[in-house]
Amino acid sequence: MPTRATRRGAERTPIDTDADVLICGASFAGLAVARELQRAGARVLMLDRYDVGERQTSACGIPTQWLEALGLSEQQRFGELVCHTPHRTARLRLPWTFSTFDYRTVCGELREQGSDAVFETAKVEGRTGDVVHTDRGDVRAPLVVDGLGWRRILAPGENVQPPEAWLSRGLEVHPGGSGDDLAIWIDRSYVPAGYGWSFPAGHEVRVGVGSFDPRVHVKEPTVRLARDEARDPIRFQGNWIPHRLRPAAADGVFFVGDSAGHCLPLTAEGIRPALYFGIALGRELRAVVEGRRTREDALHSYAAFSAGHRWKWEAMLGVQRAVPRVAPRLLTAALRAMESRRFLDWSFGHYLELAHPRIVGPGRAHPRRAAALAA
Ligand SMILES: Cc1cc2nc3c(=O)[nH]c(=O)nc-3n(C[C@H](O)[C@H](O)[C@H](O)COP(=O)(O)OP(=O)(O)OC[C@H]3O[C@@H](n4cnc5c(N)ncnc54)[C@H](O)[C@@H]3O)c2cc1C
Repeated sequence: MPTRATRRGAERTPIDTDADVLICGASFAGLAVARELQRAGARVLMLDRYDVGERQTSACGIPTQWLEALGLSEQQRFGELVCHTPHRTARLRLPWTFSTFDYRTVCGELREQGSDAVFETAKVEGRTGDVVHTDRGDVRAPLVVDGLGWRRILAPGENVQPPEAWLSRGLEVHPGGSGDDLAIWIDRSYVPAGYGWSFPAGHEVRVGVGSFDPRVHVKEPTVRLARDEARDPIRFQGNWIPHRLRPAAADGVFFVGDSAGHCLPLTAEGIRPALYFGIALGRELRAVVEGRRTREDALHSYAAFSAGHRWKWEAMLGVQRAVPRVAPRLLTAALRAMESRRFLDWSFGHYLELAHPRIVGPGRAHPRRAAALAA
């Protein structure tokens, strides 16, 4: 079990302070923003209720190219997606590979890339204008980032909570063991609208079920899928997963990752969008702290960048809504058609383009990648 590194008791001293940039949330989105602010000469403060990498939030599967672009460590690599339906299993040969990684390791590596930011554990409770309230005191900053996940804590007004919010539900278990297949199940016997998965990651396998309908509970099918796969249903972790974009700037605050609904509908892939939009936001903030842009311009431009992706995200949401309505036998036939090399190259090529790692840019690659390229 991971050890708790969060500051407790006497170590929890007040943090009444000012910063140029306050990043709330130190998971994928927040860490990507901090990385882009490295050596910008700004006072960047990053807050999270847990220590960096302490609390895993996902199965940690991502296109390998993203790990390579950022010089991050992988655990296991897959060239195929094994797709189980009630009537057939298809092995889809991907035009690019997918990898699993260790949450704590990758968060630590990202943190290193944004090490100029000061990090403190604190629970963010709310905001009044430019003042963010935490359980360790108030922080004042002209540039405030909410990378706090689906709760969107710093948004103005009443927040929409599940099950009414645009959220899916995901739960997985992490038994020890190994496997060779990155597999998904599109099978109503597990979940009426959603899918199950099994992601091997070195010494453990992450088996879970996600439901697009937030009212449908996923514990029983998660346990059943794990048992069907001869895995122990132990070490649970789950969360709500947004499946619709929300305004990326509101009331002077920048929202990124799950707090802006950047997670992709249908596949619930939220890590690379969090990194992608985090990098874009970090660059906007860098322009502000370097005096090349006003805060208002950055709010406007970042919100427009995020909204510019809306139609693609809505198209994915359309497929998310359509798939559960397709009769299982028709789905099996569709899957057969999808196995063609041409279709796989086309569809997965477009899918990668939704949040492509080229945004990292050659000049921005981490030294470890530069060294690997030079070798
Ligand atoms: C079971 C499951 C499996 C998944 N598997 C995958 C996968 O394999 N691949 C993939 O791409 N996506 C996956 N996702 C989706 C992915 O986890 C999210 O989209 C992604 O984590 C979003 O990153 P983020 O940085 O925006 O938010 P988060 O990762 O949710 O991070 C939010 C951060 O804010 C902190 N925080 C929250 N509230 C407070 C507060 N009040 N005060 C201080 N700190 C706070 C949290 O501790 C956390 O560190 C999965 C999701 C689930 C639920």
